This record gives sequence, structure tokens and C-alpha cells, in this order.
Amino acid sequence: MPFDPDTDIERLPTEPGCYLMRDADGGVIYVGKAANLRARVRQYFGATSDTRYFVKLLDQFLDRIDVLITSNEKEALILENELIKRHQPRFNVELKDDKNFLHLRIDDRVDWPRIDVVRRPRRDGAKYFGPYHSASKIRSTLKLVERHFKLRNCDDLSFKNRSRPCLQYQIKRCPGPCVLPVDREAYQQQVAEVVLFLQGRRDELARQLEAKMRAAAAEMRYEQAARHRDQLKAIEGSLEDQQMVDLRAIDRDVFGLYREGGLLQVVILLVRRGRLVGSRAFGFDRQGTPDAEVLSTFCNLFYNAGNPVPHEVLMPVEPDGAAALQERLAELRETRVALKVPQRGSGRKLLEMASTNAEHAFFQARREEAVRDGGLVRLKKKLRLANLPYRIECYDISLFQGAQPVASRVVFEGGVPKRSAYRHYKIREVEGTDDFAMMREVLIRRLQRGLAEGDLPDLIVVDGGKGQLNVAVAVFEDLSVNGVDVVGLAKSRVLDGGTGPDGAVVRSAERVFLPGVKDPIVLRSHTDELFLMTHLRDEAHRFAITFHRKLRVGRNFESVLDEIPGVGIARRKALLRHFGSLKRLRRATVDAIAEVEGIGAHLARSIHEALVD
Ligand code: SF4
Repeated sequence: MPFDPDTDIERLPTEPGCYLMRDADGGVIYVGKAANLRARVRQYFGATSDTRYFVKLLDQFLDRIDVLITSNEKEALILENELIKRHQPRFNVELKDDKNFLHLRIDDRVDWPRIDVVRRPRRDGAKYFGPYHSASKIRSTLKLVERHFKLRNCDDLSFKNRSRPCLQYQIKRCPGPCVLPVDREAYQQQVAEVVLFLQGRRDELARQLEAKMRAAAAEMRYEQAARHRDQLKAIEGSLEDQQMVDLRAIDRDVFGLYREGGLLQVVILLVRRGRLVGSRAFGFDRQGTPDAEVLSTFCNLFYNAGNPVPHEVLMPVEPDGAAALQERLAELRETRVALKVPQRGSGRKLLEMASTNAEHAFFQARREEAVRDGGLVRLKKKLRLANLPYRIECYDISLFQGAQPVASRVVFEGGVPKRSAYRHYKIREVEGTDDFAMMREVLIRRLQRGLAEGDLPDLIVVDGGKGQLNVAVAVFEDLSVNGVDVVGLAKSRVLDGGTGPDGAVVRSAERVFLPGVKDPIVLRSHTDELFLMTHLRDEAHRFAITFHRKLRVGRNFESVLDEIPGVGIARRKALLRHFGSLKRLRRATVDAIAEVEGIGAHLARSIHEALVD
């Protein structure tokens, strides 16, 4: 029998542990951990939980929930990592093998260490550096190390079997420890310097080399001093491509997160000794669980996979089970680790930088995906468009409290929302609530400006059926707009009869009206085309509703204050300027209200009394 939240949740234990959500075939679709299993699962089905997208998926797939009890939350964390690796559930974040990144590895515990280039760090006690995004970056790093720090680059087998040094020795890139009596301590010193260099602790390394250079010069070992001078120059040159982002000279990983519906992007900025030395970006789909849960699971997987744990891990929100996670990270690092959610200072700035990078990486990935997957190409074909609809603008007219009209525009680029281009239009010329006339006014304003500035979209979607589309086509003709496609997107309707045999509401399919074509195009369910068009329309409605909310707040401020004798337009504006919102004004004391320009003590008391709930 499928999982029934009303009865089955109560049967779950309240101990810590992991839960495995399974589909009808018994396959694991999601693994989570919790300090209290029953409470955690209940959260998914609570009215106030922020898991709507995930719950939609669960409605479709969830059949039963199995649990594994552990003795504490940290054990649950370790078990979760194992279970995700074993089952690879479709709705969990999964740390995929990232073939695009390379790392450098040095095992400084062995005799005559060398540098290896590897794909993935392992927990084998060696030191790992990176990730390096490009082969050229790793080549230039290795070149600098070979030229100035002279570590061997041969493999262990060659090293053991050499009877004389190789070319590296001839060109002064290796002291030849394979056969020559090289000073072991001096070689280890070189290794330690390379480690400092690769760890990004280049200021520290520069200070050491400078001291050595001065000492060598003072002792008239000029060749040695010249070598240190060259090393210094090379390090200083390499510092230029590492941006200083933090005055605190510690190692920090900074997590940024950006999401749209079920699509999610995580970016980790790697800050070493205050310098930004690299970043990692991971994209996921079908992720509907809250940020705190995603961050906790992802962080657990990321560091358990062998990635070096820094002194501090900065997160935009507190991850689920933060204390247990911090304890686990300290175990992996073998010393203290701080897991922080900074609210101000350099940490907060770094978080903002990580979140901007996550947003950027998200759109970059979606653009590439849209082109790669051909979703836009299919939409072009299906709607018989002249252009590939890279930039789509959707226009919607809605009414506030049955009277106040609002026109809104949402924009998708590369198949994903571009929120910075959304806007609301105040209707200037139309009296009353004539939808068609308002749509006409808004489109004329948009297209006139676009024609003047040479900035037009590939496709305009008007929210509505034939009537709205005809208005748009007439505007296109009046303004001689060419090279832009236009379609009407009609809402799905409740069909005759209203409900199906199971009692569910029966709706028509989504319909798209094309200019000059009598019958609308019906988009097939579960296709990218339908997903894109419904996402566009939902986004337009969501955006209109947020504006209505703002209007309501604004109106309340006015209407509440209007009722207080002695508060006219000027004083109302002064109060709004001073407090910013009705909520803050309500919380203000009489003295604080009296400080507002034009409001004396007497009026301040009247306002305060009028606003007390
Ligand atoms: S000189 Fe010897 S130790 Fe150095 S790279 Fe060549 S073979 Fe290896």
C-alpha cells in the first residue's frame, strides 16, 4: 500500500538515523538523515514546509519509507554518506566524478617525493592541491615548480632503475637523487616549499625565500642568492593571478547556492590564506528539499570524497545537523573545524561572492544545456517559430482587488528565468479594466522602445487566448515589427463535468495560439516544451501576485494613517520615509514617532494609540 502520511508517519521512530524513501519497485529514490526520524519525515508533509516541489515528486513516486536507527546524529551522517553512494537515489544530490578538474598530489612521507597529476583526491594521507580547471593552468604550475624548485618528475620504477640521471638533471631541473648523493634534508626543504606554494601560502613562502636570499648574499654564496631571487620573482608573478579576498590569512571554503524550482547550483569558493585560489561548481536537478538539508548532505559527501577540509567552512544557512556535521569535519581534518553562517564582516562578503558565482554558474549551465539538449529547438519546431526562442518575454495583465490593473513582464533566456529583466508596468492611458486595451498599451511601449534601441526578444508570449493574441498581432502590424515571433498561451480550463471518476479535477491541456492558425497547438504532457511554457506562465502569475502584495502593504499604510486626524499626505510620507513600513511604525515608541519631522509629542501619541492592535 502506498505511503500514507496521515497514518504511516506516526509509526516511525523518534530516534536519530537515516530514512530511505522507496518507489513501488522498491528502488531507493531519496536518502536523508535526522536527529528525530519521525519529526523529520513529518516536515515534508507539513503545511508550512518549504518542500512543495519535493512533495510533488513524492506524490508521484513514494511508496514506502524504511528507516535505519543509529545511536547519534553523527553516525547517521556517516551512514547517509554510505547509503547515498550505494543506492545513488535519483532525488539526492550526487557528487559526480568531475572529469573536468585535476589535482596535484604530493606524498611527502616517502623518500624523494614527486608531484603527481590526479583526477580525484583520495584519503591516503598524501597532500592534494587544486582543483585546477584547465590543463594549461596545471602545466604552467608544474613548469614553475620544476624550474624553480627542482623536484624529480620520473615515476618510481624509472627512479629505481636509473644508472645515470636523465635529461632533467642536464637542464638543471632535478638534482638527480636517482643515482647522485643528493642532500636529503635540502630536498625535503624544497618539497616543503612546493607544498607552501601549492597551498597558496605564497606570502609566507616569499618571506622565507627573502630571508634565505639575504643570508646567502651576506655569506657571499651568490649563485644560491640568485636562485632564491629567481624563485621569489616567479612566486610574486604567480600571486598576481590570485585575488586577495580576505584579510584573515586562514583557509576557508565558502558555499554559495542558487536554485530555480528543482534546479540547483552549488558553488564552493576555495580561499587559501586569504586568497581566492579556485572554485568548484556542481549542478543538480530534481532537488526540492530545503537549502539546509541540501547543504548538509552535499557538504558531507564533498568532504568524505577526500576533498581537503579547511579551517573554516562558511555556509549561507545553517545546515541540518550542524553540530554533528562540524564534528565529522573535525574528524576528517584531524583538528578543529569551524562551521559558520556569518552575518557580517569579511565572511558575509565571501558568502555574497559565492552566491553571485552560483547564480552565474547556474545560468551558464542552463544556457549550455538549452543549446545542448535542443529544448529550445524543439519548441521552435513545435510552435513553428521563425527564431530560436533564446529570449522569451511573457506579458500578463491582472487585476488587484478587482480594480487596480497590473501588467507584468517575465523574461526567460536560454530556457531559464532572468529575474533581473522582470518588470511591472503602470497602466497610463487606459481607463477602467479593459484587458485588451491594457495589453495593447504595454506592448506598444515595450516594442517602441525595443525598436528605438535595437533590443527585441525572439518570442513574445501573451498570457491569454485568441483575443490577446489578436491584440498583439495588431500592435506588431501597426509598429511594423519584424523578426519577432508572437504566440498566445491560454490557461488550461476545467473541462465539462468538472471532476473525473477519482474525484480529481479534470482540466484541458495547455494550448498555444499561433497567429493566423485557427486551432491551438496542444503541448504534450511531460515534454520540455510544456515544462518551459507552463514555467513561463507560472512565473508571470507569481510575479504579478508579489506586486499585488506590495500594493496591499502600500495601501494599508495609507488607509490606516488616513484615519488618524492630523495626518495628511506630507506627514504620512514623512512617517513612511522614516520607518519604511507599517510594521516598523507599529513597533515604534511614542518618542521615536515624535522624532519624525512635523510630528509633535501629542500627535505621536495619537498615532501610537491608533496603531496598537
Ligand atoms: S634525474 Fe633522476 S631523479 Fe631526476 S627526474 Fe631524472 S631520473 Fe628522476
